[in-house]
Amino acid sequence: MVRQFPDRFEVVALGAGSNAALLCEQIVEFGPRLVSIKDAQAASHLEDLLSAKRYDRLPEIYYGQEAHSRVASCPESDMLVSAMVGAAGLLPTLAAIEAGKDIALANKETLVAAGEIVTAAAASNNVKILPVDSEHSAIFQALQGNHRHTLDRVLLTASGGPFFNKSRKELETVSPEAALCHPNWSMGPKITIDSATLMNKGLEVIEAHWLFAVPLDRISVYIHPESVVHSMVEYIDGSVIAQMGVPDMRIPIAYALSYPERLPTSYPKLDLFRLQKLSFYPPDEEKFPCLRLAFNACRTGSTMPGVLNAANEVAVHAFLKKEIGFYDIPCVIDEVMACHNPGAKPDLETILKADTWAREEASKIIDARKSKR
Ligand code: MG
Repeated sequence: MVRQFPDRFEVVALGAGSNAALLCEQIVEFGPRLVSIKDAQAASHLEDLLSAKRYDRLPEIYYGQEAHSRVASCPESDMLVSAMVGAAGLLPTLAAIEAGKDIALANKETLVAAGEIVTAAAASNNVKILPVDSEHSAIFQALQGNHRHTLDRVLLTASGGPFFNKSRKELETVSPEAALCHPNWSMGPKITIDSATLMNKGLEVIEAHWLFAVPLDRISVYIHPESVVHSMVEYIDGSVIAQMGVPDMRIPIAYALSYPERLPTSYPKLDLFRLQKLSFYPPDEEKFPCLRLAFNACRTGSTMPGVLNAANEVAVHAFLKKEIGFYDIPCVIDEVMACHNPGAKPDLETILKADTWAREEASKIIDARKSKR
């Protein structure tokens, strides 16, 4: 989007994981003044790459977790695009909110782990949280121009992932490679596995609950394999408003960056004559138990959604490394949740502690399962 609209957007700071080569390219193209990267090793690799390119507008380079918060709250920026993977995005996102930046939120785990704290901080700092997640962008768009008290239900759509047509028996032995082949969306490995287990939809239910202040029993999930209707809202008069479009993340990203305006993008447009048919199915909770686990965690509230998320991150990582099977993912999460005692109204420190605890607990359970395999 920045490349397409260079007069409108400027990247003043950039945070990365450990991919120094890609960060180097982006520095040369976009010229940020401040960057952060995972650790000291990656930072020195980045410096080498930049000097090899004889790039002379060198940015300040910081590394480590604190560095991401520094980039996120960079004084020159108006908005943070929060797109880290997992609960690691929580502290940088909060730092940006406290610095008064509007947030374009792609990192749903931030709201899953600390929805109450993050939405309260946004309200008290007069900061907008604009969804980048395609479903939430759809809901946000369908809410424009209507009175909130007339909203009855949120209808969250899900592609169903790559395993929509597979049986539970087939899924027991499915490989990470098969799970990584998403039919409609091109995304990173963690979220693609989450789409295959439907945990992604579970996390999105919790995200919608916080983002739009909608009670859990007013959110329903619809499997919609075409991924054309990105979500819908139903009003008290029975009107259902949907947002549709080709499955391309650049559309919700553009809307979050330009809201309330719309940008004239040049991507392929929706061709309904070619599609002919849009279909919707109820989710199969026997085949995809992660969805139920997420609803349960949200209903329990407190630190439980954060624990669900942390256990899921560890279990997905182990599945990708072929240490556990596909159905071990929900089993591990279920076991961790069963051992957790959430207190009332947790503060940020309690949430972070529960996150660490859940990761350790999940690792122990995975080790025990590995030794049985
Ligand atoms: Mg989504």
